[in-house]
Parts: sequence; structure tokens; C-alpha cells
Amino acid sequence: MSAPLFFVGPWDLDRRLACVPDDPGQGPVLLVESRAKGSALPYHRKKLVLVLSAMRHFAAELRGEGYQVHLVNAASYVEGIQNTVAELGSSKVVALEPREWGLDRALREADLGAPLELLPEGGLGGHFLLTRQEFLDWAGGQKAKLRMDVFYRWMRKRTGLLMDEGRPEGGKWSYDSDNRKRIPAEAEAPALPRFDPDPITREQIQRVEGWPNHWGQAAGFNWPVTRAQALEALASFVQERLTSFGDYQDGMRAGETFLWHACLAPAMNLGLLAPLEVAEAAVTAYREGDAPLNAVEGFVRQVIGWREFIRGVYWLRMPDLRSSNLLGASRPLPAFYWEPKRTEMRCVRESAQAVLDHGYAHHIQRLMILGNFALLAGVEPLELSHWFWAGFVDAYEWVELPNVHGMALYADDTFTTKPYAASGNYVNKMSDYCKGCRYKVKVKQGPDACPFNVLFWGFMSRHRDLLEENPRLGMLYRGWDKRGADERAAILGDAETFLDSLPTSSHDWSFEDDAG
Ligand code: SF4
Repeated sequence: MSAPLFFVGPWDLDRRLACVPDDPGQGPVLLVESRAKGSALPYHRKKLVLVLSAMRHFAAELRGEGYQVHLVNAASYVEGIQNTVAELGSSKVVALEPREWGLDRALREADLGAPLELLPEGGLGGHFLLTRQEFLDWAGGQKAKLRMDVFYRWMRKRTGLLMDEGRPEGGKWSYDSDNRKRIPAEAEAPALPRFDPDPITREQIQRVEGWPNHWGQAAGFNWPVTRAQALEALASFVQERLTSFGDYQDGMRAGETFLWHACLAPAMNLGLLAPLEVAEAAVTAYREGDAPLNAVEGFVRQVIGWREFIRGVYWLRMPDLRSSNLLGASRPLPAFYWEPKRTEMRCVRESAQAVLDHGYAHHIQRLMILGNFALLAGVEPLELSHWFWAGFVDAYEWVELPNVHGMALYADDTFTTKPYAASGNYVNKMSDYCKGCRYKVKVKQGPDACPFNVLFWGFMSRHRDLLEENPRLGMLYRGWDKRGADERAAILGDAETFLDSLPTSSHDWSFEDDAG
């Protein structure tokens, strides 16, 4: 009787967790390079190298253990599976539930040539701590709007992480208020570990560098592509950067990209690290007196709180999440997201340049600079969403879509009660960008005014009907109304002039969300 075929997607590359049989004799393993997926967006070349190299390393690891591994290039994931099933005469196809809605639907609907067995993804110790159904059950039991802080407390109790006899470690669930320090000029962030490309990675760098229609450079690639490298990256974070991670996690500094951040999401989202082991490594450092509670709690919240919550919201809200646009935003993405030098706003230029250089910017650059600008400018949500998906090495639809639509742009209000809109004051408080900027952050109107200052009021004014009743925003409107009519008109006029001057991108790609 023919054997089953085990399909391993490029999000399932941890030997302990992957959809691979215990015994190599139980059936061959299939990895597919999908041309439709790879060409759907002008993906950053470092992101392509990351995925392609990690897949090849995993295939080599499995072959070394005696598995029969097929790594095929095909028009799509589905076609790759169909061709291999036909070639091998497989009795069935076994896979983990895919991460993305489009492929999940395509696999379930396609005639693969053999029955499909999808195994639930997630569960304590897995690629996620919850299965999709466990999150949906939790969400179904909420009487009001979904709240991340409520979910996070539930996850802390469920996992037992940072718990002390049923109570939160140290007496508080969150130490976020301790984690908003400006980075002192003299503080030096340790460098990320180096992962010099081996022959497998070098081959992919050379291959991808020659591909037209992609963003960024493959050269300078330094992301972990194996389980061993991912563990080294985790150890380096815990030993060298975790102690200060909490204090400076919201800070930004010109010319520096990684600071004290973990930078583990690219490896976690390929399946090279499991969330429980990552969170436990940080908690162990705290228990052993090597890291403070504010840092460890802040990190654990990202891993067992935000990451799980966002992925749960994705499955809860798909496919409608893609078309969400609560504010009716319609502006094309300004060209400087792709070409950072085309803006004189130093904070935006530095943040977009980090993405162009590394495929990475940290969470405050993402939310409060790149996201905030798009929010205030009224950028169409999918335009920004596709840019994040293409540009960031850790971005896939399940993570970028709820973050962009739900958090950054207030296009969907499943878990937010107001937009995260900020003026230049916030950037000045949390960074050193403003002192070297052509604009003046303290100036509220006129040609030198920080664009965030005028755009903020343009935004608040445009959406007054929707936002004024929000108790957290009503005070702002009352302050605005006390200003003179001439001053208000001048600020709103400056905002319009600035928006009219934005360079538009000339990209000619069109995106099929479900390409795969
Ligand atoms: Fe950004 Fe405004 Fe500061 Fe310039 S002045 S860096 S545009 S916040």
C-alpha cells in the first residue's frame, strides 16, 4: 500500500514540531517553493533568502536523518502537492493547518489527488500556545469587545508563566509603565549575533539577488536559518539584551535598528522556535536573578499575549478583515515607504530605511512612526498592509493584517476603542530623531512645523463625528475648540498642503492576496 505524503510549509521548520512522521519509513516529506507566493508581492530579498534558505536547511536536516525529502519548485503550493501525489501515488496528504487563510481554503477545496488530513496547529509547546479553536472559544465567551489585557491575564494563568500561587509575579499583571524610558545617549546596545552565510545561504543570496521586481538587497543577510542558529539568537537576547529590553523597548535612536530588541520573530514565524520555550527562557533568567521583572514581563506579554491574540483575531475576522476600512481611508501609500530618501521627515526616513536595509524595524517604529503617519495621512489600509507584508522579514498575513488594520490604522475595531494617533511630541519624547530633522517638532503651524503636528489635527478634524464621543478623546476636541478660528484654519490648511505634496509611488504590481 502506498505511503502518506507529509507536507511541511515554510512555517513549520522545527524538527520536534513539524508535520513529519517519527519514522522515516512512514512516508516521504514534501516542501514546496511556490512561484505564485514568491512573486505575489515585491518581497524584500532578505525575506526571500530567509525562507528559501531555512527550507533547504530543514530539508538537509531531514535527509541526514534518513527521510525521503522532495523539495520542489511549483506554480503554487497546491500544484506542488498535486504533482508529487501523482508521481508517488500517495495514499493521503498530511499537513498542519496552514498559517494563512488563502492557503487554508485552497488546500481544503482543491483536489489534491489524495485525501487531505489537516492537523490542528497550536497547543501548549506548539508553534502557538493555543489552537485556533481554543482562541475562538475564549473570544466567544467575552461579553464585551475583545481586550488584549484580559486575554493576556487568561494566558498567564493558563500557562503558569510569571505566576505566584495564583497571583501575578510581583503583584502586577503589567509593568508597561516602567517600560517607556528614553534611551540615554551613553547607553550602548550589544550587537546582534553574526550568522555568516554558509554555502546553502550563499547560493540563495546569489539566486535572489538576480531576481527583478523585488525590494532591498540580499547582501548583508544575517537572520537565523536553522534551529541551532535560532537557539543561539535566543540565548544571545536573554544573556545580552533582555536586562535593558524593558526600559528601552519603546525608545528609538537614529542610525540604530535593533537596539535591545529580541529580533526573534523571523525565526519564530518560520517555526524554528516555539513560543513556550522562548517565554520560559526569559522567565528562567528572571528566576535566576539575571533579568528584572519589568523586562521579562514585557517580553512575555509580547510572546504569549500579543502574538497569540493577533493570530486569534486573524482567524476570527477573516476574510472580512481584508476589506475593513472603518475610516474610509483611500490615499495611495506615499512613495517614501519604498524609497525612504524621498521624505525629509527624519523619523519616517530612518524607520523606512531600516526596513529597506534589514527587512526589520521595531514595534514602535512600526506602530508610532510608519503606522501613525499612514493613519494621519489616510492611507488605504491594504496599501500599507501589503507594504508590511512585502517588506518585513517576520511579516505574514496572519500577523500583519490584524496589526495594520486593527492597531495601526483603526480600520477594524475588533479590539481597539480608538485610533493610536500621535503628534510629533511622542516621537520627540521617545527618540533623538527630531534634533536632526529639517522640521521643528515644537512648531505647530507654518512651513517649518512638524508634519505630524498638522496632520494630527487634520485627522482629528476629518473624523470628529466618529471620535468626539470617545471619552478619551473628547478633552482633546475641547482644547482644540479653544484655539482661535484663524489658527485652526491655518493648521488644517497646512495639513492639506502637506498631503497634496506627498510623492506617490509608481509601483506597477497588483496583488492577489490568496496567491500561493
Ligand atoms: Fe519626525 Fe516631526 Fe521629529 Fe521631524 S520633527 S523627526 S518629522 S516628529
